Amino acid sequence: MTLRVYQPDFDWFRRNRLLIAVSLLCVVFGAAIVVGSAVWARDQAQNAVRERSVSTLNLVIENLRGELSKFIYMPKVLSSLESLAPALATPSDPAAVRLLADELDQIANISGAKAIHLVDRNGHAVATSGADPMAATHAFAEEPYFRDALQGRLGRYFSVGARSRERSYFFAHPVRTGKTIAGVIVIQLELDNLEPLWFSANSEILVVDENGIVFLSSRPEWRSRSLSPLSEDTRTRLADRYQQQTFAPLPFVDGLQDGFARIEPAVISSSTRGGDTTTGVDFLVYEREMPDSGWRVLILSNANGVRRQVAISALVSASILVIFMLVAANIYQRRRRMIERMAIQDTARHELETRVLERTQILTETNVKLCDEIDERHRAERELKTAQVELVQASKLAALGQMAAGLSHELNQPLAAIRSYADNAATFLDRTELAPARSNLLGIGELTERMARIIKNLRTYARNEQVPARPVPLPDTINEALSLLEGRLTKDAVTVSIDLPDHLPPVMGGEVRFQQVFINLFTNAIDAMADSPRKHINVRVVTDTGGVQVSVEDSGPGVPSEVLENVFDPFYSTKTVGEGMGLGLSITYGIVRQFGGTITVSNASTGGAVFTLTLPLAAISDEAAE
Ligand code: ADP
Repeated sequence: MTLRVYQPDFDWFRRNRLLIAVSLLCVVFGAAIVVGSAVWARDQAQNAVRERSVSTLNLVIENLRGELSKFIYMPKVLSSLESLAPALATPSDPAAVRLLADELDQIANISGAKAIHLVDRNGHAVATSGADPMAATHAFAEEPYFRDALQGRLGRYFSVGARSRERSYFFAHPVRTGKTIAGVIVIQLELDNLEPLWFSANSEILVVDENGIVFLSSRPEWRSRSLSPLSEDTRTRLADRYQQQTFAPLPFVDGLQDGFARIEPAVISSSTRGGDTTTGVDFLVYEREMPDSGWRVLILSNANGVRRQVAISALVSASILVIFMLVAANIYQRRRRMIERMAIQDTARHELETRVLERTQILTETNVKLCDEIDERHRAERELKTAQVELVQASKLAALGQMAAGLSHELNQPLAAIRSYADNAATFLDRTELAPARSNLLGIGELTERMARIIKNLRTYARNEQVPARPVPLPDTINEALSLLEGRLTKDAVTVSIDLPDHLPPVMGGEVRFQQVFINLFTNAIDAMADSPRKHINVRVVTDTGGVQVSVEDSGPGVPSEVLENVFDPFYSTKTVGEGMGLGLSITYGIVRQFGGTITVSNASTGGAVFTLTLPLAAISDEAAE
């Protein structure tokens, strides 16, 4: 196993430093946007909560003030009741006290007060609305509101009943007889009915006294608890008022500070108001003072909404940023890929251009070579043509040589006949027998004409024809060739038959060269039939759409099938040296191809060889030439 040591690719960092810088900038910028939007969302949400809380707070205070203001003047009004003074003067008169008690009871029922007490200067209840046994024994002398009233002021105070543990609010006012204060009228109120109005899912209302003790709350279990831990002295001082020794601070984590409070998780988990049971619930705290009563009213608004808003806003802005960055990254990637592709294409194009240039150069060189080769071929062709012409001529002369014997016989025979005709004519003239002499002279004339024809043919044949192709009448050419070979045909006893169609159109070619073609074919046929019992040559001419077809069939042994393909090759011959050069058919092939025709060989069913020529018609060839 090999141990791989990680080596950072510094080159990569160097190459992509711009990308890295931009990415870092984007991250910083994105983080700033996310934080900014979260702060903005928090401020917005807090503003909304504050507005809501402050208006709720105002409502609560108005509600509280309204409730208290209903009773604030009542003690003063009651203190002027005429029935009070006599009752205070003669508290032992049960009838007067009873009467007053009924009257106070009536007033309490009408006003909604919990109770109304008339208390003498010593703090003993003289008359009380209803039949409240507590009032009879209660020592009002200790109560702050009582002392305030004895001082001539309006007394007001909140406290919890010693036995009933009911929370009550007291107003007290002095009852004067003349200038002296004879007693105090006390009105006891219940504030419990206010609390249910403050219940809300998202906020808590607290009314605290000047010592920071909660005496009204939308949460019953928070009543009589303190906002912050109290000193020993304060607790002792308040023990009677609230009828308890300990004042548990409210379940705030880290207390109440800067308008913010977090309620302990345990409290929340047991509550029905929801929230995070592990870290508690955060509240935004707003408060207002009620200077006339010395109270503070606090509203604790659930900050979960704010948190949620902040979270949503951060999430949304982060999502938008991520999407934006992804899109930007995608665009960047695409652009980069495009640049890479373009670079690859550029390289490819450059390579292609280089290759094309190289190829062009090679092609140009090849072309030059090819041109040279073509020139060379043309030269070779020209030389070949010259050689061919020379060969044709040589072969013709060779054929003439071969024909010489026959020709001399052909010429000698008429010469001998002319001689005997001349002798005869002389004899007849001597005898003055003019008629027979004339007939002999006419015979001489015919014979010389025949000789002249033979010589003319020979001359034509020996001529080296260089003229371009022109229309040639085939029957004439065939007959002239036959007449040149007449001596050999006669000598070898070869018969010839010719099948010609009516109105045979001329073919395109050269008269002399076609003549040579037929002489070659007929000579070969005569040679091939040397040992054949029947010696016959059949020439058949037919026309079709492609041109004229001429077949020369002999009654010889035919061409052996294994050499059928070789007979047109130059210097291919089965004849003994001196008899054949193997050029006849090769020259024939060349002449026929030269005029746009074809020549093929096959063997007839009777055994003899069949050479078939296809020659183009003069009209068709003309068109082709154009
Ligand atoms: P050459 O006559 O000088 O041999 P050719 O080119 O004219 O040359 O003929 C080539 C050969 O084709 C001949 O040697 C002969 O074997 C064969 N050949 C040509 N014509 C005939 C024919 N009519 N019948 C049989 N064989 C033939």
